[in-house]
Amino acid sequence: MQVIDGKKVAEEVLQEVAQEINALKSQGITPGLAVVLVGEDPASQVYVNSKARKCAELGMHSEKIVLSADTSQEELLKVIEQLNNNPAIHGILVQSPPPKHIDEAAVVLTIDPAKDVDGFHPENVAKLVLEDETGFVPCTPLGCMRLLKSAGIDTCGANAVVIGRSMIVGKPMAHLLMAKDANATVTVAHSRTKNLADLCKGADIIVAAIGRPNFVTADFVKDGAVVVDVGINRVEDATAPRGYRIVGDVDYANVAPKCKAITPVPGGVGPMTIALLMANTVKACKQQNNIR
Ligand code: NAD
Repeated sequence: MQVIDGKKVAEEVLQEVAQEINALKSQGITPGLAVVLVGEDPASQVYVNSKARKCAELGMHSEKIVLSADTSQEELLKVIEQLNNNPAIHGILVQSPPPKHIDEAAVVLTIDPAKDVDGFHPENVAKLVLEDETGFVPCTPLGCMRLLKSAGIDTCGANAVVIGRSMIVGKPMAHLLMAKDANATVTVAHSRTKNLADLCKGADIIVAAIGRPNFVTADFVKDGAVVVDVGINRVEDATAPRGYRIVGDVDYANVAPKCKAITPVPGGVGPMTIALLMANTVKACKQQNNIR
């Protein structure tokens, strides 16, 4: 059984990104990412800070824009429009979830698709479906594909089951797996799917993006399957320093022994997301400067 080391693969991605940044800087161009946070959600603050820190480590320009929780929709859209017009900024990300009075769809529509490094704008969603490589793909499924590739998993003709149909993970993951450079046969399962365990039992590859701790148990998994666990769930643990620990959507202890390869949580998909965000920002910078 192969444990796919997400930290190691994320480091590889970041090294590639650093090389590209150095090449851009030698031409007088510094990639820039703006991260917008509305409100004081502590988890979001942690995410936003780690993104800004990663930019700094790589020598990228970053702007962290923190707006108060009572910021109006209009004010937020104005900030995004300013960033759209700011030539020092190549990627824009609005941290989810925004406060309830903000219409997230309107926010996504306002971001210039050329700077939409999260890949949520309808133009980028269409480009994913069209397999147009100039588009931006959400970072987490992009990271999952890179993990499969670096683990040497052959997706061609494989039966893949993606559990979850969100716009951020499940749907883009399904598209990436069925695209012509991956060639998997994909089934997308969701909360209304019947006989999920039986469905998964026929899968060569299972991608779990549900948001429920230990949901995928050993009886879902055939011997020799590949399992990618996207889940990040807090479970109470009195023995852990913070009183909780992070687990995935897969019952790792019982599933791993059956697998050909599996991603752990933490240390699997998680570190990939931020690495691919940096990669998407560099891609956006190159495209905006007409560099191939
Ligand atoms: P979501 O809540 O938007 O979607 C969950 C999906 O699971 C839904 O499509 C739903 O239909 C499906 N689902 C729910 N109950 C089900 C059931 N009983 N059987 C089958 N399907 C069921 O969540 P999301 O944003 O896609 O995130 C999923 C998980 O991935 C979460 O744990 C989240 O924290 C994690 N996540 C991790 C990263 C990362 O960087 N590693 C990034 C994004 C999300």
